[in-house]
Amino acid sequence: MKDIIIVGGGLAGLTAGMYAQRGGMDTLLFEKMFTGGQASTTNMIENYPGFDDPISGPDFAMKIENHARKFGLEIQYDEIVDLELEGKIKKVKTENKEYECKALILAMGAEPKKLGLDKEDEFRGRGVSYCATCDGAFYRGKDVVVVGGGDTAAEDAMFLSQYVNKVYLVHRRDTLRATKILADRVIANKKIEKIWDSAVEAILGDDQVTGIRVVNLKTGEKREIKVDGMFIAIGVRPNSELIKGRVKMSEAGYVLTNESMQTNIPGVFAAGDLRHKPLLQLVTAAADGAIAAYSAQRYIIEEFDE
Ligand code: NAP
Repeated sequence: MKDIIIVGGGLAGLTAGMYAQRGGMDTLLFEKMFTGGQASTTNMIENYPGFDDPISGPDFAMKIENHARKFGLEIQYDEIVDLELEGKIKKVKTENKEYECKALILAMGAEPKKLGLDKEDEFRGRGVSYCATCDGAFYRGKDVVVVGGGDTAAEDAMFLSQYVNKVYLVHRRDTLRATKILADRVIANKKIEKIWDSAVEAILGDDQVTGIRVVNLKTGEKREIKVDGMFIAIGVRPNSELIKGRVKMSEAGYVLTNESMQTNIPGVFAAGDLRHKPLLQLVTAAADGAIAAYSAQRYIIEEFDE
């Protein structure tokens, strides 16, 4: 039996793993795809304390993983298909095996939201993308559209403008929600045409994206724009399906915790973008992970007399 099992290898999970191992807890982290979470799909990180020169997302993720491994964190690449949360011993199930632990840290993070348009799923990988850093290079010299007005949309538009011929930024309001420094860069960038107060109502193309139809939400006027790529950056939704109806959540599906990262179930903690909180950032994910590990360790000492 493990002391602590962590589900999710983004920054929150890796930091929890680093703290738990360093604290002497025998810890196992499960990750279904790649470590680093959303940081790995970020172009440049310039607001993580200590990195005064911007660092690429994948480099940052690798550093954090190496750091956690230095303390002996065991990382297993497998998908968790079920969890038994209620008993004193928690059970974590993959397709082929069951694991037990004394405390569990949920750090499954969040993933990009979809617009819900026809062809959005069908054309994913054929013009539709949720990750400018991953797919931007395919659109060198072409025209693309970014949908959204938050930090992700602003960063995506700036990143893509380095490669593509032109970026259209479609936002449903006439001001960006993005942090001022990012918003100012977007406004000043001549390669980014801002299409305010508008929504994409259709993706055009027979077997790949060739354009979009945009409607102005104030005037009702419609316009077709030729683009080869469409980057959707309209926010995230928590990866909380696995624990739906079992752990207390906000209406939007974010896990509710107290300030010690404890959920409503004893021995079950949550950290990072999965958790309901005012600021979803790398620095708050790391802080959550550290607190969750500390709290899980306190819980084990108290409940298991260690
Ligand atoms: P976000 O802040 O939630 O912004 C989502 C944007 O998409 C908003 O502008 C929103 O419009 C728009 N939107 C939402 N649903 C839409 C829909 N159905 N159709 C059209 N537009 C829609 O999401 P995010 O930009 O992905 O950021 C998520 C979190 O990560 C935030 O906390 C953000 O600060 C953080 N983040 C930080 C950084 C950084 O610090 N460098 C980088 C990336 C992300 P409205 O404005 O009208 O609501």
